[in-house]
Amino acid sequence: MDCYNRAMKRLYWTQPDTLEAEVVVTAMEGGRAVTDPVLFHPDEGGQPPDLGTLGEANVLGVEVVDGQIVHRLDRPLSDGRYGARVDRLRREHTASHHTAQHIISGIALERFGLRTTGVHIGLERCTVDFDRKVEWETVMALEREVMEVVMLDVPVETVFDEADVRVRDELKPIEADVIRVVKIGAWDQSACCGAHVRTTGRIGVVRLCDIESKKEGTRLFFLAGRKALEYSQQETNVLRELRKAASCSTPELLATFEKAQAQDRDLTKEVARLWTQMLPGLAASAQVREVQSLKVGVQVAEVPPQLVAKLAGLIAEVTEGVGIAVGGTRVAISSRTLDAAALLKTIQSAAGGKGGGSPGAANGNLGRAVTVEEILTILKS
Ligand SMILES: [Zn+2]
Repeated sequence: MDCYNRAMKRLYWTQPDTLEAEVVVTAMEGGRAVTDPVLFHPDEGGQPPDLGTLGEANVLGVEVVDGQIVHRLDRPLSDGRYGARVDRLRREHTASHHTAQHIISGIALERFGLRTTGVHIGLERCTVDFDRKVEWETVMALEREVMEVVMLDVPVETVFDEADVRVRDELKPIEADVIRVVKIGAWDQSACCGAHVRTTGRIGVVRLCDIESKKEGTRLFFLAGRKALEYSQQETNVLRELRKAASCSTPELLATFEKAQAQDRDLTKEVARLWTQMLPGLAASAQVREVQSLKVGVQVAEVPPQLVAKLAGLIAEVTEGVGIAVGGTRVAISSRTLDAAALLKTIQSAAGGKGGGSPGAANGNLGRAVTVEEILTILKS
């Protein structure tokens, strides 16, 4: 596998702190170029590529093409020596997340028996997939152990040809004779072609943010370095605002929230009960007109949507004809005489909305709010 080929001088393997150097550029067609040595990490192994500049040209992308690391430039360069400069913040981001992932996967396997089946290092979202279900308590224990390794500031070593090495992504076979192995003390040792930080302390902080069930396994979301700090600050701000709004401490927040939810449920029930009591009165006060010498009763009131059809039924009972009820933009028709579905269609052709039903009962929504007079006018025409 080309990724493990030592023929190319990949400075990001052996000198990850070298982000500026003079390199020999060999131009290719289409504004592309190769360099010697290679400073830029390509889009490879689930780690986004480095960006930066080569001489006056901006590096827009870096890819592995036929075993060569090819830089895509915004303007063509002629062959020669140029200063190469890697975007430091972007590299710090990808390298610290990638190195954090080594530590997470190493400890997850050694201490918790969790095998890594997939990895994604994004600029906003990084994930590690494990082969089985994981409890949140395990994630917290894993996070503490990962942070111990960060705080111990362990060197991240590059060695070649190490025997008995773990291949992190089992889908990728190692075919080359020379294997590049990344070793982080006793915590992880795996074949890898990515860019890393020099020592684990450079990561600063690792936060394991959440887990999600994934078929038989678990997807872990994590952040490192500045992104982890941003994430923690955001959560701290949310908690602070919640404490202020609820006038309680952080440990009391969940109980306060559950109490508010229970109160909300009780109130919703109580409101529905009161409306149900009021329905007969609303039915009795419906405006009644004769349409085609049949009685039609209409009521428009702020009835909850789920009670509109019931109100229409009560009006139909009172008028011994047709009941039309509107609550907000919800409309229901109950009829013992006229075709309810046809009536609904007539009202909706004037007021908009969707719905349908049978000759006995129809309901739906209106495109806008209407008054009793409007409905009576529509029916008259
Ligand atoms: Zn790696």
